[in-house]
Amino acid sequence: MNTNSVDNETSNVTFDNRFVSELPGDPDSSGRRRQVLGAAWSAVMPTPVAAPQLLAHAADVAELVGFGPEFVQSPAFAELFGGNALLPGMQPYAACYGGHQFGNWAGQLGDGRAITLGEVVNARGERWELQLKGAGPTPYSRTADGRAVLRSSIREFLCSEAMHHLGVPTTRALSVVATGDMVVRDMFYNGNAAPEHGAIVCRVAPSFIRFGNFEIFTAREDVATLTRLVDFTIARDFPHLVAQYTNDTERRGAWYAEVCERTARMIVQWMRVGFVHGVMNTDNMSIVGLTIDYGPYGWLDNFDPHWTPNTTDAQGRRYRFGQQPAVAQWNLARLADALTPLFADEAPLQAGLDRFSAVYIAEYEAMNAAKFGFVRRGDDEMLVIRECFALLFDAEVDYTRFFRALGDIGDTLPDGDLLPLLGDVFYNDDKRDAKAEAFNAWLRRWHALVLQHGRTFAERRAAMHAVNPWFVLRNYVAQQAIDAATAGDYSVVRTLLTVLRDPYTEQPAFAEFAGRRPEWARHKAGCSMLSCSS
Ligand code: AMP
Ligand code: MG
Repeated sequence: MNTNSVDNETSNVTFDNRFVSELPGDPDSSGRRRQVLGAAWSAVMPTPVAAPQLLAHAADVAELVGFGPEFVQSPAFAELFGGNALLPGMQPYAACYGGHQFGNWAGQLGDGRAITLGEVVNARGERWELQLKGAGPTPYSRTADGRAVLRSSIREFLCSEAMHHLGVPTTRALSVVATGDMVVRDMFYNGNAAPEHGAIVCRVAPSFIRFGNFEIFTAREDVATLTRLVDFTIARDFPHLVAQYTNDTERRGAWYAEVCERTARMIVQWMRVGFVHGVMNTDNMSIVGLTIDYGPYGWLDNFDPHWTPNTTDAQGRRYRFGQQPAVAQWNLARLADALTPLFADEAPLQAGLDRFSAVYIAEYEAMNAAKFGFVRRGDDEMLVIRECFALLFDAEVDYTRFFRALGDIGDTLPDGDLLPLLGDVFYNDDKRDAKAEAFNAWLRRWHALVLQHGRTFAERRAAMHAVNPWFVLRNYVAQQAIDAATAGDYSVVRTLLTVLRDPYTEQPAFAEFAGRRPEWARHKAGCSMLSCSS
């Protein structure tokens, strides 16, 4: 157990651990794996590791939390975020939650390898929870080891930050620390378990509460704890609602509707940048509308609404790109089920679900219009957008590079074939040739339409490039950072961290990371499909 305590003068942060001070905790502190009843959390210490080494950190997240650059570079920081030490004021815990996995109720899950260290309140009064992922077993670990491997930790670290800088609501990542211990994983689920380097990410978010935190209490008919958790969540994470409503039912109804709205806005952003979460189980849905739990996620290379990066989901494709809004709504309906004991009738919950649909449709249409450079969206615009998505799919076109290229098209079109204007966006010559005529006709229709929107080329280009990223964290790119790190070279992780901080600006020096997926990556592990093994 931890005996070390880092001198807090070096970090100078203040903790105010409301989750543990205001919600019921598990009286059994043995750490034994079991069903935990009547409690929202269990106290648990990170298990120390052999040789913590800081591989990379996000300087802006350190600044948010209140850690200065000297502290980050000190050995104490790696000890702390490797799980070997605590700061005064930290109260480590694992949360109890359940969830629907792939459509079925899975019972108690909980933080099986995540341990929250505490809630920092920074100089601006913002609350940031610090949570280690891979810090050792907890009462919720079931048969697993509580650890995480280097490859999945690098993927979570980089993607959290990539999403943030793209403008997508997400949990952040402070650090990734190599533990010096090996972890055994069967990466392909084929009976070939092998040791891999262990690592720990420190995630940072205002709240790590998930839909599943509510579902578990309803499943156990523990309405008292459910009610406490709902009112706690509103008070801590949605304080504006406390000020706005005095009536409990109205406040809780407004809260559920806001959760629906935030979730809708988050999914619209995923669709904009071509992100596929891969495991949208209700235990992986944040109550504050953040992207959470980066596992077998992926980014669209060629536009394909049916694509899922998750090998475990390859059969049913429940969590495919185009299905994400429907799944989010299904998950919100499970949350509504969990909240029914708090409402005399279902009208407020139905109103929340209706808000999801209304906000999603309006925001999705506005988002797409912006991607195509339109300032308004009438029937002509909607039709052009729909036709384009069909073409992008049929002709196997790179989603990210297509929209960048579209933004670069000027006010006059050349005669003849327009496809060269799009550059290197096609993955299959036969499919391109089959659609060349239709694509040319589409480009001329889009162009004539966008010119009617009254922007200069410079204005249109700037507006389109502000919503169509130049850089996204494609799987094959993340995999290069992982391969180098596994060989002991962390420079690619750090380079990507720089590139992803400015994803809307073309960075010619890093063009190698913004190319369409190379042929070698089409079937390489980690570059196309991923297992959940992490
Ligand atoms: P995930 O699919 O990664 O969201 O995880 C689903 C559940 O499995 C959560 O309760 C996790 O805490 C738990 N889990 C995943 N990996 C491990 C592990 N290595 N050790 C303990 N629990 C784990
Ligand atoms: Mg999870």
